[in-house]
Amino acid sequence: MSSIQTVQELTTWLDNHGRCGKTLGFVPTMGYLHEGHLSLIREAKRHNDLVVVSIFVNPTQFAPGEDFEKYPRNLEKDYKLSKEAGADVIFHPEVCEVYPEGAATQVEVTGTLTQTLCGLSRPTHFKGVTTVVNILLNMVRPDQVYFGQKDAQQALIIKKMIRDLCIRVKLNICPIVREPDGLAMSSRNVYLSKEERKQALVLYRSLQKGECLVQQGINSALQVIKAVQEEILGAPLAAIDYIEVLDAKTLEPIDTFDGDALIAVAVRFGKTRLIDNKLIKPKEDRLCF
Ligand code: AMP
Repeated sequence: MSSIQTVQELTTWLDNHGRCGKTLGFVPTMGYLHEGHLSLIREAKRHNDLVVVSIFVNPTQFAPGEDFEKYPRNLEKDYKLSKEAGADVIFHPEVCEVYPEGAATQVEVTGTLTQTLCGLSRPTHFKGVTTVVNILLNMVRPDQVYFGQKDAQQALIIKKMIRDLCIRVKLNICPIVREPDGLAMSSRNVYLSKEERKQALVLYRSLQKGECLVQQGINSALQVIKAVQEEILGAPLAAIDYIEVLDAKTLEPIDTFDGDALIAVAVRFGKTRLIDNKLIKPKEDRLCF
């Protein structure tokens, strides 16, 4: 596996390794890789001849006072894990490579998709995400790109950007990978104290409870939100940022579970903000375990 830092090197590598007929999959990440990231790399490898993984902690998606400086980093371990998962290139550019001096262009998806859920408490976040994903797509020029359902809102925003800007790439959204006890994997889980980690299980438990209620025939979003809230409030260290039931495609709020819906939660444990979500399919397709 090659470790590459500049666009020039990346372009040379891609030219030499047969953009001639080979398909290229791309997995953008901020590093500190875990099984969630690795599932995307493996999926990319299954469907493409070559796979590029980017490791870039993107400063423009962090607001002042957020955790940009202390975001966990471990390039050596990321290199090893990416290689084992089947990546061909690990691309880890410096900030000045992605945003050369004087860079003054931003890409923003406007409207409901960016103005709900995490967009409310992190108003500049998604502009940073769409800008960097655009830049990285232009640098790597993949056939397919892979994102996780863990960041459901991000995935929908990127889908919209790709369609609106007619970017020639196939978007794949891969399932959430969880720890054996249900906590959605996240690089930020390392911030959690032992007690916070224990109580954080309430996120998945609350989503499962919401899903089961719908399965039992509760159709009211409000009732489900209340039940999810009650479950989360059972964890004394949990501070709720949002609990929402939304249309799974548009992220518009819904009153009843009639089509594909998303239950999305964001909860703080101390200084750590965790997000999780569950897709709820229309009743006839649903099973409750
Ligand atoms: P990040 O490094 O947090 O920016 O994440 C990079 C990519 O990995 C994004 O597309 C995330 O949605 C995805 N990802 C992060 N955590 C998980 C997870 N637990 N399961 C599946 N995908 C994930």
